[in-house]
Amino acid sequence: MSTLRFRALNDAANRKPVKFEESGRKSHLFGSNVFNDQAMRQFLTPEAHQAVKDAVQNGVKIDRKIAEYIAMGMKEWALSKNVTHYTHWFQPLTGTTAEKHDAFFETDFEGGSFEKFGGGQLVQQEPDASSFPNGGIRNTFEARGYTAWDPTSPAFIFGTTLCIPTVFISYTGEALDYKTPLLRALHAMDQAATDVCKYFDKNVKKVTATLGWEQEYFLVDIALANSRPDILMTGRTLLGHTSAKGQQLDDHYFGSIPTRVLSYMRELEEECMLLGIPVKTRHNEVAPNQFELAPIFEETNLAVDHNSLLMDVMQKVGERHDFKVLFHEKPFKGVNGSGKHNNWSLATDTGINLLSPSKTPMSNLQFLTFFINTIKAVNDYEALLRGAIATASNDHRLGANEAPPAIISVFIGAQLTKVLAELEGVSTGKLSPEEKTDLKLNVVGKIPDVLLDNTDRNRTSPFAFTGNKFEFRAVGSSANCANAMTTLNTIVAKQLKDFKKAVDVLIETKDMKKDDAIFNVLREYIKQSKNILFEGDGYSEAWEKEAAKRGLSNFKTTPSALKARVSQQALDLFKEMNVMNHVEVEARYEIELEEYTKKIQIEGRVLGDIAKNHVVPTAIRYQNILIENVKGLKEIFGKDFEKIGKEQIVMIREISEHIEGINTKVDEMTEARKDANSLTDAHVMAEAYCDKVKPYFDVIRSHCDKLELLVDDEIWTLTKYRELLFTK
Ligand code: ADP
Ligand code: MG
Repeated sequence: MSTLRFRALNDAANRKPVKFEESGRKSHLFGSNVFNDQAMRQFLTPEAHQAVKDAVQNGVKIDRKIAEYIAMGMKEWALSKNVTHYTHWFQPLTGTTAEKHDAFFETDFEGGSFEKFGGGQLVQQEPDASSFPNGGIRNTFEARGYTAWDPTSPAFIFGTTLCIPTVFISYTGEALDYKTPLLRALHAMDQAATDVCKYFDKNVKKVTATLGWEQEYFLVDIALANSRPDILMTGRTLLGHTSAKGQQLDDHYFGSIPTRVLSYMRELEEECMLLGIPVKTRHNEVAPNQFELAPIFEETNLAVDHNSLLMDVMQKVGERHDFKVLFHEKPFKGVNGSGKHNNWSLATDTGINLLSPSKTPMSNLQFLTFFINTIKAVNDYEALLRGAIATASNDHRLGANEAPPAIISVFIGAQLTKVLAELEGVSTGKLSPEEKTDLKLNVVGKIPDVLLDNTDRNRTSPFAFTGNKFEFRAVGSSANCANAMTTLNTIVAKQLKDFKKAVDVLIETKDMKKDDAIFNVLREYIKQSKNILFEGDGYSEAWEKEAAKRGLSNFKTTPSALKARVSQQALDLFKEMNVMNHVEVEARYEIELEEYTKKIQIEGRVLGDIAKNHVVPTAIRYQNILIENVKGLKEIFGKDFEKIGKEQIVMIREISEHIEGINTKVDEMTEARKDANSLTDAHVMAEAYCDKVKPYFDVIRSHCDKLELLVDDEIWTLTKYRELLFTK
């Protein structure tokens, strides 16, 4: 028994859990490794501090000289915390974060040495990043990109490195990362939403989009994870028979958090506290060894950075506790996958949550305005929103009969459905004084009361209103939230801009009062957005049929879903809102197609290897044991053996059939890959991988999984589901 599996099981069984005790109150730790307001007050001149604040709050550019002072202060702060290196921390289009570490340490020509970090190093860096995906942008324009400080996300220290959040752009200004378009989208949102707010409150000067993500993940003992080539190389299991016990009993969800996991979570939370990530809740999820972590919501750009940072930190802290963290959307067949709900809302600088109903009719009209505009935006751009969350790994959830479906729809609850129905009935043109009073008293004014008992949250909806925010639930657990957030904020910003235009036209040309005009436009929006509203069971077949009738898109695979990313509608939208030009949109599309193709290609290779190098040889070994057994029976029982050895002979046959199945299917899959590789168009190639290569996965897996049940457990080399999922 010398296989990796048995060594790994042995290691896992003998683990001495790393203890990490709760240290009582943690609030004093919060942000101590962040160059936040408090640190800036201590290490920056008032002038430099003000420059950063202006940049954060009003988008004012920081000039070179001030940058010099800021860099000096930042360096002093970092050195006071024993930092030795600095890095420009950024989010290339690969879904992970990237860093290039440089030492502060410098020497001069006289042989002296000192710590150097100036404005130049802070503001601009040229990473040698020629191998980051860029969809042809850099080849077309310039050879290299550069990173530049994003002052809206504060610098932080991780380990002994000062990390400076940056954007990553080409010399011609095209975005090569996730952050740049997000910042532009948030800016567009601020402008459009502030303009609309002015109808209700002239004092509003800024609107911020807020994001609270909920990160789901699996923890697997590191030795067990490493014993599985598929987990190691693809982040998920490509085969493995489901264990007799899965999640049927719901005992994990309601159970207490295992001690070893709790220790991990405590240390993780402490790291998060130091980094200023406001983690708040932790709990078990539905599947065995599945968990969730959620912070208090934040401004979207910061929240996105914090989620990317968190995913890094989770893996690093995991290593200290001998865990591997699986962020994949579907690491195990037969148990729930993982998602990352994106809770989203809009907040004014006057402290109002624009998606929260309140006490007065006027502010509720404001709520309804933002509420209905969001629904309209999702209605008009549902395909684009679906495209923003399309990845090879998320395909395992969306449309694969697991939460949520590939169809985008909006759930708003029974009470708000009623409110919209009443608003739809308001008269065209100017409203009579009676009608207005009635609306104010009985419709708009009643919302806060009715929402209090709006507890019927629909868990099957991909985009649900949950009382004071929308929850975009279809985002994948391994995704960078920026993609979804850039799209959502852009479509809503565009919608608000159109709304403002429509209302102004009515006021100016039809001589309407402001609220008459607002009611009139909202009424039309409600009529136009009916298709997207759905309150029923999103997983049902009936909904698929109904959605098709309504003309909603239902893209079950990434290559088909991604097309919407480059539709004329999308190109126009991103251009008009100054979020991305055509080159940037098309570059992203190509990168995402390529990413998809590569993922499926790697999975295909790994599956082929495991099937041929692990499963088939093990099956043959076991078959030989059976053959020996049958030979022995024949020797003892002579011609009677056929009755006695009947079962063994059936098994020998069955094993041969599965081996044959594996060998032919793996060969066919290899041929299909070769055919796909010869294609030149990125989209056609991705489709070939999706339709011609991927279908082999299930067939090959099914043969392997049947063999797993047949073959003696003692010689099976791959760590089994029950071991991966139930080792605590
Ligand atoms: P659940 O959806 O799990 O029942 P909650 O409704 O309490 O939990 O909140 C879920 C998430 O919603 C939290 O991560 C929280 O930070 C986030 N959230 C709450 N209010 C807002 C808001 N105004 N904007 C963005 N996110 C929010
Ligand atoms: Mg939630």
